[in-house]
Amino acid sequence: MKAIVVHEFGGPEVLRLEDVPTPRPLPGQVLVRIRAAGVNPYDTYMRNGTYAIKPPLPYTPGSDGAGEVEAIGDGVSKVKRGDRVYTARTLTGAYAEYAIALETQVHPLPAKITYAQGAAVWVPYGTAYHALYQSARARAGQTLLVHGASGGVGIAAVQIARAMGLAVFGTAGSGKGLELVRREGAHQVFDHSQPGYLQEILKATGGRGVDVILEMLANVNLGQDLKLLATRGCVVVIGSRGDVTISPRDLMTRLGSIQAFAIWGITESDEKETHAGLIAGMENGTLRPVVGKELPLAEAPRAHKEILEPGAYGKIALVP
Ligand code: NAP
Repeated sequence: MKAIVVHEFGGPEVLRLEDVPTPRPLPGQVLVRIRAAGVNPYDTYMRNGTYAIKPPLPYTPGSDGAGEVEAIGDGVSKVKRGDRVYTARTLTGAYAEYAIALETQVHPLPAKITYAQGAAVWVPYGTAYHALYQSARARAGQTLLVHGASGGVGIAAVQIARAMGLAVFGTAGSGKGLELVRREGAHQVFDHSQPGYLQEILKATGGRGVDVILEMLANVNLGQDLKLLATRGCVVVIGSRGDVTISPRDLMTRLGSIQAFAIWGITESDEKETHAGLIAGMENGTLRPVVGKELPLAEAPRAHKEILEPGAYGKIALVP
């Protein structure tokens, strides 16, 4: 089969398309014919060798794939050959024509969701779901700011929050992104590349502040986020690419809090609940992953460059 293989940590050029043996499922494992693989920012940090999880070399990237079950190992009863599935982690990497996953790592992909959309489910939607339901414990009627709403996690958060009944504010840094965020359910949109947009957000709450902020770039925004919070408001740090200074008094005066998590660390029961919620949302049409770009597997290096550039528009998917 064809697969992207990383032999040494480094820039996007270390992602090489190679012929490798097609793996076979052992007991408890599932072989998935990957039709699309999701590209997540963490794939780039891992490829650089700067991420908290450093895989042994060589490795094939990718936790988020979608496709059909090609074969199952002994003892697998959850899925059968031909079933449409999405993966939440794999053992051998989703940037490939085939991937092995544990039975617990494959989940049914509702009929109305395409494979490219299925590749946008686990990390983006799992993160947004955990942030809103399990971390912030957001409730209908609250005000939410999705700070960075035009990318994979942001769009997921906007759709989930809208279905939950929150008043949703979303930011993007391009006209196209702002349009997307509004189309996917934000009540109001703001341009995070424009000076004064934070004051505009505060104004839109009538000066009361925002109950929940989902933060995609904490190293830039966390200090200002705290000044935007309503009393007992909460910031959930989802993304950060460096250090930041905050004024703790901003939290003290608002009785506020900061939460943070990495999706790999959530509990088994939270993960189970998350998949149940996501599958129901995809079935009932409230969750509709947006794929902004599909690229051939060989163009993984380009995908890794573009995922880090401004002007996000939903998800980038690789098609083997
Ligand atoms: P993505 O698809 O590349 O989107 C990035 C988002 O950040 C876009 O909406 C982008 O908007 C926005 N952004 C750019 N500059 C910003 C600014 N100054 N203020 C606010 N937002 C800004 O990435 P993603 O998959 O949504 O992931 C977002 C971040 O969360 C990444 O850092 C990722 O590593 C992290 N993450 C963490 C977890 C976890 O478990 N904690 C899980 C998934 C992702 P424009 O391009 O429109 O400017």
